[in-house]
Amino acid sequence: MLDINKIRNDFPILNQKVYGKQLIYLDNGATTQKPNQVIDYVSEFYSTINSNIHRGVHSLSGKSTEEYENARLTIKDYINANSEKEIIFTKGTTEAINLVASSFGEEYINEGDEILVSQTEHHSNIVPWQMLCKRKKAILKVVPVNNNTEIVIEEFKKLLSNKTKLIAISQVSNAFGTIMPINNIIQKAHKVGAYVLVDGAQGVQHFKTDVQYLDCDFYTFSGHKIYAETGIGVLYGKEELLNKMPPYQGGGDMIKTVSFEKTEYADLPLKFEAGTSNYVGAASIAKAIDYINSIGLDNIYEYENDLVNYARKELTKIKGLKIIGSPTNNTSSISFLLNGIHHYDAGMILDKLGIAVRTGTHCAEPAMKRFDITGTIRASFSFYNTKQEVDELCKGILRVKKMFD
Ligand code: PLP
Repeated sequence: MLDINKIRNDFPILNQKVYGKQLIYLDNGATTQKPNQVIDYVSEFYSTINSNIHRGVHSLSGKSTEEYENARLTIKDYINANSEKEIIFTKGTTEAINLVASSFGEEYINEGDEILVSQTEHHSNIVPWQMLCKRKKAILKVVPVNNNTEIVIEEFKKLLSNKTKLIAISQVSNAFGTIMPINNIIQKAHKVGAYVLVDGAQGVQHFKTDVQYLDCDFYTFSGHKIYAETGIGVLYGKEELLNKMPPYQGGGDMIKTVSFEKTEYADLPLKFEAGTSNYVGAASIAKAIDYINSIGLDNIYEYENDLVNYARKELTKIKGLKIIGSPTNNTSSISFLLNGIHHYDAGMILDKLGIAVRTGTHCAEPAMKRFDITGTIRASFSFYNTKQEVDELCKGILRVKKMFD
């Protein structure tokens, strides 16, 4: 059992009114709120030890660097990477995927090669591959999903061949909350010699991820979706693979020596970290992970699962409300529509009731097209949400319906 009152007290933003109504924040898929433990840490960092990392001999720089590099170790342990060299700091999931598309793509993708993505990917896990395919004359293929928003494994098997060089797949769909069968996909991909990138933006904060157990080749996530700062994220890559890939960007920090004749690149992980990174943000991820660990990821999973199941059950009772897909394995997000009411209108009225949900395509236009819709209303949950808030959401939806009736 989680002590929700205590947890909610850790998140100051939750304790406020919007249009005179208690805020109910159900947009955690877009970004999560920050606990005091992270906010205070960031403030303390800037108040006491702020200094650029890696390059200084003075003590503040040493302390900043220590926080940054310790964060790398915390993240390594959190996702069970084999080495901290496999943890690359990026601006976020989007940059992590672009890094792989650019660098891995340069080295490993050739004309006629095939890259597979699922039909429900976030644009971040589609567009970089389209750009790469255009550059290299490779072919992007799409694995369809069924009416329950689940990957059709039979179709995946048909698309998989020795031409497949990479599969880029989300761990959890941000549009529908579907947990993808990545274990199965990774095993099958490796049998034909294909690599797998898992976009963990919607998975890493909800349940245990073990990259060695999964055996994925790349794994990506964003700080702001795991209760840390924005403008920072992580790319995990297998060391052997990262070593073979060329740098993504050139600049300071990613070099050993520079001369006009020849530049020698730094070893991992710095080879991929050109320029001053958001080092405070990186350190904030470690604080967020400490916070998650203090609650326990298994407890979080259990609590959120129960909450989402409750929300599904209650939403289903509302006449004229249609949930898009009922995937067997799902977490954290529910996408739905109200008969005859545009999702934007519903979202705007819910906002007036203090309820923050997301409306639109959720950066997954092809997924919306698959279901022949222009968007959905998405309620996405965190462990600080409650069943009472779900009840308020349902009441809010009934009010929206009444207004339109
Ligand atoms: N992938 C998924 C599944 C997402 O949900 C998101 C953000 O919503 C992204 C990628 C992009 O993340 P960011 O904007 O933090 O780079």
